Amino acid sequence: MLKKFFSYYKPHKRLFIIDFSSAIFVALLELAFPMAVQWFIDKLLPSGDWGKIVTISILLLLVYLLSTFLQYIVSYLGHKLGINIETDMRQQLFNHVHRQSFRFFDNTKTGHIMSRITNDLFDIGELAHHGPEDAFIAVMTMIGAFILMYGINPELAIIAICMVPLLVVLVTFCNIKMNAAWQNMYGKIADVNARVEDSVSGARVVKSFTNEDFEISRFKKDNGSFRLAKLVAYNVMAWTHSSMYMMTRLVTLVVLVVGAWFTFNDRLTIGDLVAFILFVNILIKPVDKISALLELYPKGMAGFRRFLDLIEQEPEIKDRAGAKAVSHLSGDILFDEVHFQYDDNKYVLNGIDLSIRSGETIAFVGPSGAGKTTICSLIPRFYDVDSGAISIDGIDIRNMTQQSLRSQIGIVLQDVFLFTGTIKENIAYGNLDATDEEVMAAAQKAHLEEFIASLPDGYETQIGERGLKLSGGQKQRLAIARMFLKNPPILILDEATSALDTETERIIQQSLNELAENRTTLVIAHRLATIRDADRVIVVTEDGIAEDGKYDELVRKGGIFARLHNIQFQEV
Ligand code: ADP
Ligand code: MG
Repeated sequence: MLKKFFSYYKPHKRLFIIDFSSAIFVALLELAFPMAVQWFIDKLLPSGDWGKIVTISILLLLVYLLSTFLQYIVSYLGHKLGINIETDMRQQLFNHVHRQSFRFFDNTKTGHIMSRITNDLFDIGELAHHGPEDAFIAVMTMIGAFILMYGINPELAIIAICMVPLLVVLVTFCNIKMNAAWQNMYGKIADVNARVEDSVSGARVVKSFTNEDFEISRFKKDNGSFRLAKLVAYNVMAWTHSSMYMMTRLVTLVVLVVGAWFTFNDRLTIGDLVAFILFVNILIKPVDKISALLELYPKGMAGFRRFLDLIEQEPEIKDRAGAKAVSHLSGDILFDEVHFQYDDNKYVLNGIDLSIRSGETIAFVGPSGAGKTTICSLIPRFYDVDSGAISIDGIDIRNMTQQSLRSQIGIVLQDVFLFTGTIKENIAYGNLDATDEEVMAAAQKAHLEEFIASLPDGYETQIGERGLKLSGGQKQRLAIARMFLKNPPILILDEATSALDTETERIIQQSLNELAENRTTLVIAHRLATIRDADRVIVVTEDGIAEDGKYDELVRKGGIFARLHNIQFQEV
């Protein structure tokens, strides 16, 4: 897994090398500082050569400027590296999600993908940046500091290094506590948010029951536990900082006292002692980073595992090798012994045979859950048949590329999905290459132009989540305009008008009839009045296709369809 992780560094090799070598330089310069101070105190000061002192100081200043610049490089380029890797992964994940088939979306919660794309990738990005660099530099600095200290005075060096593991344990313990406290606090934030959302979106219900006080007292409780959790988190944080402070001072103090004693015994010069104290700081500084890494590593790697789990999931439906790109299909559709199940417990379709001729309008009716939508989703290969075959114009659809197959099929559903954007962009979704004129022509065919003209910004009016809300009928017209623009030879209308009132349905029906002209059209209908003109009606039940014939024939036949017909028209 680490190998896979590091493969993401490859495109940014140059960045990594510059960042890494700058970091090594910074570490070396840092290690050189106490040595310079030691020399300054022990050799330069006694000489009393003021000119030399000034020269050396200027030299040190230059070295510091260089070190400052390198630190900037390390911080900026290091983060840039992390951001680049995070961006690559996010793009890869998004591309991958869009290569998936329907079943993936049936089984995956949007929230999960969202948290992969946000939280997990953030952790991974942090690890990508801090991981190798910090680990290497921290360890190297500590080893370097120890060697140099050992060179000055072995006993004192060993005393100092012995205290480091203690520090690591302390810091790690604090980190674990802190993490738990933050997690708890995040949970409470989520509770507060959920309560606000619930209560505000349900405000009308709250008012109608005059339950404001109840809502207020509920919120007070959540708000209170959030306060408590946040206090605890900050308390742990304050504790961590103070005990860290205390420990580092303690180490310094021990070194100072033992060092002082060594100095009395002439085993250490003043310069040595000062250098030692400085080294102790260098030795202690990376402890923070190491313990942060101890925490970051499992978090980042767990995120990376989840990322890989998604990325390595092959799309269920793929183009076969040698699949053909078809165009200008005429729309003869043949179902041959089609069996299909969503999951392993029950066949939804059990040997469907069906032949639809080019240009026909076929209506599917039957109880809900019988499998009408399923039959229609197999044609664009949203799912693949388990056995049997579906062919269009005599070609098995599995031998066509998905792109070319789906470009020949238009689907209008009950729920029209509008993207955040303008009316024009939403219509143009039907054909991204369409010109403005073509978009307008499509809107006209869908009888939308009057409505659009009445809008303040016309075609540029914002709709969707954060814009104008369209009525059900207007949405359907927009969907129809998209279809005119796409202009596919095969059209599927899955209860397109079922959510509309009868009057609106009647008006939209006209546009749909115009859209259906010269196309093979499959209509799934709820209200039978809308399918009077269909060439054939197919009755689907849980046992498969029960009846197949002209509307009037089926009524006269006195079977299932006749019964449906009688129920609907007696009630009206
Ligand atoms: P209809 O369109 O005739 O109302 P559907 O084709 O939607 O019926 O559904 C047929 C059966 O398949 C139902 O039992 C339904 O619960 C099941 N089903 C539909 N879609 C899915 C899905 N995505 N995953 C699992 N089962 C499904
Ligand atoms: Mg359905």
